[in-house]
Amino acid sequence: MDYKKILPHLFEGAYIVDDNRKIVHWNQEAERITGYSQNEVIGKYCYDNILRHMSHDGTLLCHQGCPLKSSIETGDINEAYVALHHKKGYRVPVFVRTIPFMDDTTKQRMALELFSETHRRKNMAEENKNLKKELLQDPLTLIYNRRFMDYQLELAIDEFKTFGTTLGLLFIDIDHFKRVNDQYGHDAGDKVLSAVAQTLALNVRSSDYVGRYGGEEFIALLRGVNPQEMRLMAERLRLLIAEASMEIDASTSIAVTISIGCAYYQDDGTKASLLKTADQNMYQAKQTGRNKVVSS
Ligand code: GH3
Ligand code: MG
Ligand code: MG
Repeated sequence: MDYKKILPHLFEGAYIVDDNRKIVHWNQEAERITGYSQNEVIGKYCYDNILRHMSHDGTLLCHQGCPLKSSIETGDINEAYVALHHKKGYRVPVFVRTIPFMDDTTKQRMALELFSETHRRKNMAEENKNLKKELLQDPLTLIYNRRFMDYQLELAIDEFKTFGTTLGLLFIDIDHFKRVNDQYGHDAGDKVLSAVAQTLALNVRSSDYVGRYGGEEFIALLRGVNPQEMRLMAERLRLLIAEASMEIDASTSIAVTISIGCAYYQDDGTKASLLKTADQNMYQAKQTGRNKVVSS
């Protein structure tokens, strides 16, 4: 195996020195972390004042305590937290690992240094993404949270008023969920909750929204449906859950059912009236036997 071929695929900065600590390979991640391109470093010596490894106590390691030099001399793998010099002049904290090896063809002693940033650079796009997630996602089930569903419900009602886009709301509650917790424990309950949430969210159309609205209660917002399509969708979701069994550990699977109340948006409706109707119908489903869809 030609070790040089591996370097481009590493997630870490990587470079290889020969036994005189001359840099002979330098990968792209090393370029990114240090700002130095291959052309600028290959052929130079690692102590040439390029990277200027510095330990936490401020010791410059190139002339005393170079982890690469020690690896070449002792054959040991060394690890250290150091600060590297970036081409632009600032210091980048990294974790380095130096690994000695023998070049198969030249029989020369070489060493590989791997280094990765210990401080993940703050990235605004990534932070925005995380913030958005926190704002919209239910942390347990990873589907939309109540805040997002309330917002979408308001938007959908506006859209009905402006464009006449119809909407139906399903209020979904897991049947006898307390028993699941009592019998198998709260963690198992959480797993079942997540599995139900995923089944619901994955099996509506892409224009619909499913979110967790309370403890073991979900709502689904179906847009552009007629009353019959709404009921069919509810029935489909009820069946999908009733037919599934959810694994809580290697030897135990649990089956649960859901009760669904439907509400179809009418001209003079409000968000509150829609939710109330759906909730009342869900209650009816519970009263009349559970594992049922009720619509008015
Ligand atoms: P019903 O068929 O009438 O809905 O019976 P139920 O037992 O589901 O009754 P209810 O809806 O009143 O109770 C919901 C239970 O769900 C109570 C609570 O312990 C449990 N629960 C709520 N949130 C969570 C959660 O995040 N994780 C777990 N494991 N359980 C939860
Ligand atoms: Mg319940
Ligand atoms: Mg409930």
